[in-house]
Amino acid sequence: MAPGHPECSERLRAIERELRHRGLFDRLQHHEARCATRAEIERAHDPAFVAGIFARAPASGYVMLDPDTIMGPSTLPAALRAAGALAQAVDLLLAGRATNAFCAVRPPGHHAERDAAMGFCFFNNVAIGAAHALAAGLDRVAVLDFDVHHGNGTEDIFAEDPRVLLCSSYQHPHYPHRARGSVPGHRVNTPLPAGAGSAAFRAAVSGRWLPELEAFAPQMLFVSAGFDAHAADPLGGLRLEDEDYAWITAQIDNVAGRYCDGRIVSTLEGGYDLAALGRCAALHIEGLLEA
Ligand SMILES: [Zn+2]
Repeated sequence: MAPGHPECSERLRAIERELRHRGLFDRLQHHEARCATRAEIERAHDPAFVAGIFARAPASGYVMLDPDTIMGPSTLPAALRAAGALAQAVDLLLAGRATNAFCAVRPPGHHAERDAAMGFCFFNNVAIGAAHALAAGLDRVAVLDFDVHHGNGTEDIFAEDPRVLLCSSYQHPHYPHRARGSVPGHRVNTPLPAGAGSAAFRAAVSGRWLPELEAFAPQMLFVSAGFDAHAADPLGGLRLEDEDYAWITAQIDNVAGRYCDGRIVSTLEGGYDLAALGRCAALHIEGLLEA
């Protein structure tokens, strides 16, 4: 992204710094992400859209795809690795080389629709990962999205795919204003009003997400882990606290343990207060590590 943009490389450094500070960094397996292939990306995106992203990627300077989604010379290489990280994580889990994974990637992905880049997102990383798992032979996967912004891209990509259960908690009304209605057994949208905090979030997850997950019995869980619903975040108006990220991770671990042999692929979406992002991502990763 362009200089001064909130979706900045310092975000990943803030997470690494906090993992080191808490003694977690050296307890993790680390893998450098490979690039996603065009075929992997095209499981989630229209081939003409993918070709357009490649064609518009600048060798120098910046290209604006929308007012806040800007490509520089390193954006496409980063987006290919971000998407590739998800496919690679799925392969590691299916090979039994890890039980769960956190993909510390940027740019984020959950706003990218089948044929549109938007909201800092170019390719929908989590959707590419979920599609990769389905292509590998799984029959049912769930995508859980607790970013402050609705996961419209993931919703769009899997709108007609009954093999995917999508649960999304988000501030409403708020960007991107594209949520469709809930569909039992397929889509669980739990909007929260500005100012809502722990109690409302936990009630939505416990009351709406968990029963649907029980009924769906997914074989692998994917997490769009955005940390911008935190009270300190400058882009969101929800009031989650650090402990809520440990709590939601414990809920996800519990579902994964009962239905998915523990398999969780989580990926970074938003989170723009660097201190809160570092702390909450570390709590999430610690919860995955101890699952
Ligand atoms: Zn967000």
